[in-house]
Amino acid sequence: MKKPGLVVVISSPSGTGKTTVCRQLIKRYRDYQFSISATTRSPRKTEKDGVDYFFMTTEEFLDLKKAGMFAETARYLEHWYGTPKAPLEKTVNQGKIVLLDIDIQGGRSIKKTMPNAVTVFLIPPSLTELKKRLKGRHTEEPSSLQMRLKKAVTELSSWSYYDYAVVNDELKSAVKQIHLIIEAERHKAWRLADKKYWKKSTRRLLGLG
Ligand code: 5GP
Repeated sequence: MKKPGLVVVISSPSGTGKTTVCRQLIKRYRDYQFSISATTRSPRKTEKDGVDYFFMTTEEFLDLKKAGMFAETARYLEHWYGTPKAPLEKTVNQGKIVLLDIDIQGGRSIKKTMPNAVTVFLIPPSLTELKKRLKGRHTEEPSSLQMRLKKAVTELSSWSYYDYAVVNDELKSAVKQIHLIIEAERHKAWRLADKKYWKKSTRRLLGLG
């Protein structure tokens, strides 16, 4: 049996560890891919253009937005972020999982425009732990750190708009839980109502011709 492709949104307040979770999922499961977002913020020391993000000027970003190239866009702490549309469709049509590591506004707007997408909210185990993780990244100026923390508290209230909620207490366990969610979604009968997913013999059994 072939499995259907899926758009999977993983959102959480900044510092909860969603990028690490996404990287682990991609490392472990061959048919998982990362959606590379565009952003107008500057690259951090370890980030590479075309790998972590497509870094661009505000003018370039707004031109692409106007041309309808993004599935969603959001402003996050003074910068633009956007999910390029074309790679999503391509990856899903290949029967693969495309992981979107995006903020809460983005997650909610993807669910509106792509109702078949699966949304997962990653929850930090506590505010103290979130603070510790944000500080430990050493990527933020103190003012940005404070802004991110303040934003995190507001963002947490959106968890119930998501399809699934997973606590990122222990990385290995959070990764496994998200994988199990994706597996279950790929076996939903309504997603499999097409003969392309089945062998000829099973197709006949299912009345799919
Ligand atoms: P950072 O600047 O820490 O890389 O990302 C800031 C926030 O923007 C994070 O919550 C991240 O998940 C989110 N983000 C990254 N790419 C996108 C995107 O394409 N769309 C939206 N809506 N949020 C994004």
